[in-house]
Amino acid sequence: ASAVDPKPIHRLEESLINRIAAGEIIHRPANALKELLENALDAGATQIKITAKDGGLKLLQIVDNGSGIRRADLPLLAARFCTSKLSTFSDLSKLQTYGFRGEALASISHVAHLNVVTKTRDDSCAWRASYSDGLLAPAKAGTSADPKPCAGNDGTTITVEDLFYNTPLRLRALKSPSDEYARILDVVQRYAIHNPSVSFLCKKTGSNTADVSTPSSGTVKSAIQTIYGPSVAKELLEAQAEAGTKDEFEWQAEAWFTSANYHAKKPTFLLFINHRSVESARVKRAVEAVYSGILPKGACGFIYLSLDIDPSKVDVNVHPTKREVHFLEEEAITEKVADSMQAVLAANDQSRTFQYQT
Ligand code: ADP
Ligand code: MG
Repeated sequence: ASAVDPKPIHRLEESLINRIAAGEIIHRPANALKELLENALDAGATQIKITAKDGGLKLLQIVDNGSGIRRADLPLLAARFCTSKLSTFSDLSKLQTYGFRGEALASISHVAHLNVVTKTRDDSCAWRASYSDGLLAPAKAGTSADPKPCAGNDGTTITVEDLFYNTPLRLRALKSPSDEYARILDVVQRYAIHNPSVSFLCKKTGSNTADVSTPSSGTVKSAIQTIYGPSVAKELLEAQAEAGTKDEFEWQAEAWFTSANYHAKKPTFLLFINHRSVESARVKRAVEAVYSGILPKGACGFIYLSLDIDPSKVDVNVHPTKREVHFLEEEAITEKVADSMQAVLAANDQSRTFQYQT
């Protein structure tokens, strides 16, 4: 007989369930930032300012000039599965927004102190609200949890403080604020390049210099120049590809990538699928292969690739972080993109040889 006595099964406390679920979505400050940036972009912001203290662990603040949130919606703002972006299952196949699950702010409120100041264009004043565990909470002990009127500009300011204060193991695992800040910068840089008509500013609290600063009237190419510098920008080539007449669904690709003259020690690969920054080891491998035989061994290129695919053919619902995306005809589409990049590289190489000869 077993030496272990059966133990009674009991239901976990709601707050513990929520805290565990939140940890699946928000692993580190950069995850929280990505969600908050996507919310700001969903709200139509043209200006987004990010401030971080201790790599975002102490403080992460995002100021946007988007639509703002109506006073009446504030009670549900941080409640789980509450969203303004999705109503029916069929909406899932035609999503135009980043968000849809209504989980981001809820998750953040379970593992951090969440404060919001927001004003719509029609409001005569801004509203300030604090959240804890999905609910409106008093900003100070002994005061009411109701949103308070205050002064403020149109748009929304979200402040996340003391991330993982109630999950000490997670906090301890994130040892290096400078590493966390580097990841924050990486997210901001990606979105700044992909949204060149939105001005991004990112800095550390107390610093006078911005680590990312882009204007609101750029192009993908000018944003790459602003962020990665002229050494990348002067070698940029552009390639496009799209669905053929025989293909079963619509798709389009735009790539900006460095020529054979550019040699970096580490590869840079920025991938966007339907405007979402995602990762795909398979797409990366296939696209980076265009440089084999063109670049010397050990040298790498810079590649920005934006794929627009009929949303009904893309499954963004694989994981709550929406980081992993699957789409139909992945191999065929990727191959066509790589082919068009290869053709541009070859043409560029020929004109180069021609220049040297004359
Ligand atoms: P989702 O984006 O999936 O809807 P979130 O938890 O990220 O879920 O946000 C919940 C809701 O809060 C959104 O649907 C939106 O209505 C509102 N919201 C969040 N951030 C902003 C913002 N920066 N500006 C305007 N509305 C926002
Ligand atoms: Mg969201």
